[in-house]
Amino acid sequence: MPARLDEKLEPIFQDVLHRNPGESEFHQAVHEVLETLGPVLVKYPEFVEKKVIQRICEPERQIIFRVPWQDDKGEIHINRAFRVEFNSALGPYKGGMRFHPSVYLGIIKFLGFEQIFKNALTGLPIGGGKGGSDFDPKGKSDDEIMRFCQSLMTELYRHLGEYTDVPAGDIGVGGREIGYLFGQYKRITNRYESGVLTGKGLDWGGSRARTEATGYGTVFFTQEMLKARGDSLDGKTVVVSGSGNVAIYAIEKAHQLGAKVIACSDSSGIIVDEKGIDLAVVKRLKEVERRRISAYTDVHKHAKYVEDGNIWSVPCDVALPCATQNELNGSDAKTLVENGCIAVAEGANMPTTPEGVQIFQEASLAYGPGKAANAGGVATSALEMQQNASRDSWTFAYTEKRLEDIMIEIHKSSFETAEEFGSPGNYVLGANITGFIKVARAMDAMGLI
Ligand code: NDP
Repeated sequence: MPARLDEKLEPIFQDVLHRNPGESEFHQAVHEVLETLGPVLVKYPEFVEKKVIQRICEPERQIIFRVPWQDDKGEIHINRAFRVEFNSALGPYKGGMRFHPSVYLGIIKFLGFEQIFKNALTGLPIGGGKGGSDFDPKGKSDDEIMRFCQSLMTELYRHLGEYTDVPAGDIGVGGREIGYLFGQYKRITNRYESGVLTGKGLDWGGSRARTEATGYGTVFFTQEMLKARGDSLDGKTVVVSGSGNVAIYAIEKAHQLGAKVIACSDSSGIIVDEKGIDLAVVKRLKEVERRRISAYTDVHKHAKYVEDGNIWSVPCDVALPCATQNELNGSDAKTLVENGCIAVAEGANMPTTPEGVQIFQEASLAYGPGKAANAGGVATSALEMQQNASRDSWTFAYTEKRLEDIMIEIHKSSFETAEEFGSPGNYVLGANITGFIKVARAMDAMGLI
């Protein structure tokens, strides 16, 4: 059962349900934010009077379009793509593109809504947006991916711009896809507008440490949560779900900080390697050969592969969900707590169901919601935009230090806000309120738009 809402917020939520039928992930994301805003309305009654929350829940603009493309055999396919430009109070819409067959408007709206508060938390001038398509990149050739990206950008370009809307990657969209998307944007507009997309290659406007940023940032955030409890990652056993961009670099940073990651996964199954995951093998399988994680055992015979296995049943000190939404439910949360897990930080967006979140909070373990814990990715995208705007290119060490400082600051502000509003240690409340107040103040200052 999700927590009850404040009496001023319940009608707002009912209105969201009514106006957005069938979009369960979006409802979940809105409810999770509204649950924590009660105390804010007492302190800022003007936000109620000016209907700031109702306005935040309604995207500024939603674009849905057809993407036709031909496969290598000449067969025609039709996909649907979305870009939800949710809120531009703090800067241009900013948020990734997701290519996955599960994508529909409700997924993009939940991600775009989360993005508003996450981006505000970074302290950088970026608004919130998100996009994607129900296109499935699995098993497609490079040429097919290119044709799809070119077709998608042929419509999307007119809605983008470095001062308007700046997409990046997400599930199914990495460096290869950003390259094809940028190439087509450049070709159509006849502008080398580097700052229109982030996650670019290092030779053509990308930022060092962007590829690593989300995973690294999640681990920096975990380290801060543990520090606040007088502990650290050193010597801890860690489990990371997924084996994509976020998961790989979460594993890398966890290892660098002295932890041992013993399990990771993909949508087919889980790998458990008690000696510690060999990241070079995972990188080769996933970043180069684009194979299934099961192939890990071809190299490391001692490791265990469990088809459709549940990664949360592997005992650990720290759990980092880095795959997808609602991948960790109430019973998984219970298992983690019973197995002695002391910290959970979300590299993925909304990976824990409301029941799972409640169990973590009742158990008083350190729980860092995605909005705060995975904000390092978009923060470094904003650093990429800074470098593009100044025609500059920073070193890895400098960019990583900026990322670490941003994560420390996000932890500090979420932690302090939670204390200020009477819920010490509640990073969900701390992150939501910190992000919300920044956006709400800016919206209030700009009048009724
Ligand atoms: P990738 O596509 O690189 O990797 C996704 C990983 O999760 C893969 O291992 C994939 O397995 C697994 N996965 C995806 N969907 C499912 C599913 N339905 N069930 C089980 N496993 C699944 O994506 P990213 O690493 O970029 O993104 C992962 C999460 O992090 C997402 O929630 C994303 O929104 C979030 N995020 C990403 C950021 C970024 O900078 N990339 C920034 C902030 C958040 P398989 O290959 O088998 O599908």
